[in-house]
Amino acid sequence: MNVSISRRDFLSKGTAAVMSSFAGGVLAATKHEAQDQMRKENKMWHIFGLEEAYENGEYKLPNLPYAYDALEPMYDERTLKIHHDKHHAGYVKKLNAAVSKLAEARKTGDYSAIQALSNALAFNGSGHILHTLFWHSMKPGGNEGQMPDELKNVFEEDFGSVDAAQKQFAAATKAVEGSGWGILAFEPAAQKTVILQCEKHQNLTLWGVMPLLVCDVWEHAYYLKYQNNRGEWVDSFMKLANWEFATQRLTSVKHMMAEAQR
Ligand code: FE
Repeated sequence: MNVSISRRDFLSKGTAAVMSSFAGGVLAATKHEAQDQMRKENKMWHIFGLEEAYENGEYKLPNLPYAYDALEPMYDERTLKIHHDKHHAGYVKKLNAAVSKLAEARKTGDYSAIQALSNALAFNGSGHILHTLFWHSMKPGGNEGQMPDELKNVFEEDFGSVDAAQKQFAAATKAVEGSGWGILAFEPAAQKTVILQCEKHQNLTLWGVMPLLVCDVWEHAYYLKYQNNRGEWVDSFMKLANWEFATQRLTSVKHMMAEAQR
């Protein structure tokens, strides 16, 4: 169903507010259809490269942006097919299972499995996001030693030279301990590019998220007052939590996405 909704309305008011404004003839449109429409039309999602990673209320396995044999001979067809169709698909399946089990926990108030479920969300969520970006990170035919001037300029500014940036990326990626990823990323505080090693992507992060509110549970953050009673510190933090700050951050992200529509 084709539903016309102002993207700005969706971003500024949220799904519930926009959907509630649909009293009338278009109420038959499902929430998921409306969300998918917004997501697909949102240029920021295309910038993120994640536009095919979620649909109809669920994470989904995106199609490869090229044929299975498109990266031959550097990346072989058989490996690519198994990697995408089995490994990546597995992350998506288990990510959706974790999301639905977390919803069930919220419904029943039973958080006894929260550690396993948080780990499943991080492991499979990061696997899904990173693999989605990974497929787009390789170009059929190779780069032939070329890169856009804009990125060359950024590398020269942030790393001293294009060569230094490439050498650091290769060195960091080769030296990842165990399983993981080499990652070129944008660091928003300095607004610079950085190169990271990601060991075991399940280490309780979900790559690509924007932090809105954070609570430090390293011992240095609470030990003098709370000693080993981390739970008491977290309960205190929940009373201190600056939800206005979190709201400002969330609004900023939505504003940035709305600006990208211009
Ligand atoms: Fe993989």
